[in-house]
Amino acid sequence: MQRELTEVPDVGPRPAPEAALPEHFDVVIVGAGISGVGAAYHLKKQCPDKSFVALEAQKSFGGTWWTHRYPGIRSDSDLHTFGYRFKPWTGPPIATAAEILAYMGEVIEENDLARHIRYRHKIVTAHWSSEEGLWWLLARCTDTGEERAFTAGFLWMCQGYYRHWQGYLPQWPAMETFKGRLVHSETWPEHLDYRAKKVVVIGSGATAATIIPAIADACAHVTMLQRSPTFFIAGRNAIDLAETLRQLQVDEAWIHEIVRRKILFDQDHFTRRCVQEPDVVAKELIGVVRNCLGPDYDVERHFTPTYRPWRQRIAFIPDADLFKAIAAGKASVVTDEIERFNAGGMVLKSGKELEADIVVAATGFNISILGDIDFVIDGRPLVFHDSVTYRGMMFTGLPNLAWVFGYFRASWTLRADLVADFVCRLLQHMDRIGASKVTVALRPQDRDMPLLPWIDPENFNPGYITRAIHLLPKRGDKPEWQHNQDYWSEKDEIPAIDLSDGAFVYA
Ligand SMILES: Cc1cc2nc3c(=O)[nH]c(=O)nc-3n(C[C@H](O)[C@H](O)[C@H](O)COP(=O)(O)OP(=O)(O)OC[C@H]3O[C@@H](n4cnc5c(N)ncnc54)[C@H](O)[C@@H]3O)c2cc1C
Repeated sequence: MQRELTEVPDVGPRPAPEAALPEHFDVVIVGAGISGVGAAYHLKKQCPDKSFVALEAQKSFGGTWWTHRYPGIRSDSDLHTFGYRFKPWTGPPIATAAEILAYMGEVIEENDLARHIRYRHKIVTAHWSSEEGLWWLLARCTDTGEERAFTAGFLWMCQGYYRHWQGYLPQWPAMETFKGRLVHSETWPEHLDYRAKKVVVIGSGATAATIIPAIADACAHVTMLQRSPTFFIAGRNAIDLAETLRQLQVDEAWIHEIVRRKILFDQDHFTRRCVQEPDVVAKELIGVVRNCLGPDYDVERHFTPTYRPWRQRIAFIPDADLFKAIAAGKASVVTDEIERFNAGGMVLKSGKELEADIVVAATGFNISILGDIDFVIDGRPLVFHDSVTYRGMMFTGLPNLAWVFGYFRASWTLRADLVADFVCRLLQHMDRIGASKVTVALRPQDRDMPLLPWIDPENFNPGYITRAIHLLPKRGDKPEWQHNQDYWSEKDEIPAIDLSDGAFVYA
């Protein structure tokens, strides 16, 4: 299927949504990526009486997996845990975007969710009225420009964390003098011809590690230009346990559950080791790379990071394809910094020149705060940075709203499923006590709590978060006022949240 990408850059003036005649739903889900489709599934199963719609800016579902088009696009975590807990994953653990979209398509079809999703609806404003106990939303149709108004009792934010139409592109001196083609991985041109071309990929994360082996055979040469090395895990794109269980003809639903538990158990162990013995783990990870690249390769310079493992996400390299491309001489790594561009490529800080016909910036994201929606709460524009996060799901001063932000270190969807259970439980609780409004608020015992940046940079510090930390909500120093990024504690803590606790204020 030809996947047409809808350009949804920021739109023009935003009228107040109260102006138009609205369509009402108990719950509006923002986005139909893996989180939004999961939210729709859980809502339908757990709160069958609630009316709901998912409004999605793009022409189809999938979010990240729909909008990203670069060669080789694939997951970097396994699909047993990136897949939903309720739908078995039966393919190899690392999956292509097309495979993930097919899986999500089955979830939509099997659960009759299509009629609950409206595509090409970009929500531009969200006004909360305490008097009416309602969100007033205005969505702009991305094909016709028409505006549609909605009201909702509850807003379930599944909008992801970055702008799908615009990647982060650092500005280097003399970029305009480059005569070749400069592209960003996030907005890969459909017909980019890289055959027999000299390509430089700037970046060393999962995206660069995916693109390089995918294009290495076709282009003249591809160079990965990195400022500093990154940790990778290389291995077979298969899970022994899943293969064994399949040989034994165990039911796929069981295999999914058993393999999920095994992966999570192993990851827990690995994460602990990264904290307890980071040097040993680093040596092991680098040792695998050394085995792939041979004794003469300068692993010290190009694949020995200075940070401890897991401080940044560790990408899985299926079948060591990146290292195979390097070992075969089709790809190479340069660890240096760009001094300036020139007509034929770039000059590096070391003085070395890199020639390029095509430069691919795999340089990361621009964060999207709450889907770039203008939020107004009872007539006042929301200052999101002034709010305090309740377990990264709700925010002080933002009524009837939950946000899905997955894990950095474990699969995103593990958290999407946990947050979904929480939201459904909260909605049921509100019905039971006859409440139409819920806001989280600091309790008397929280008043003197120090307020800190959203995430501890010592714990996790990707560029897109660091660049936007001044826009993100604050956290406290107590577990309930933090977004802790730890699946292994949250899997027990989130289901155990006491909805009668003073942190939840109902009206
Ligand atoms: C290339 C790539 C690979 C990744 N691989 C992994 C991986 O292997 N494992 C992992 O755990 N994580 C991975 N991630 C992180 C990934 O983004 C998440 O795991 C997950 O796909 C996010 O899903 P989501 O539904 O929350 O958000 P998204 O996928 O970002 O989807 C959000 C949707 O909301 C829509 N939307 C946003 N704002 C509005 C609005 N105002 N109105 C209407 N609609 C709106 C968007 O159009 C989009 O379709 C990867 C990210 C990238 C970019």
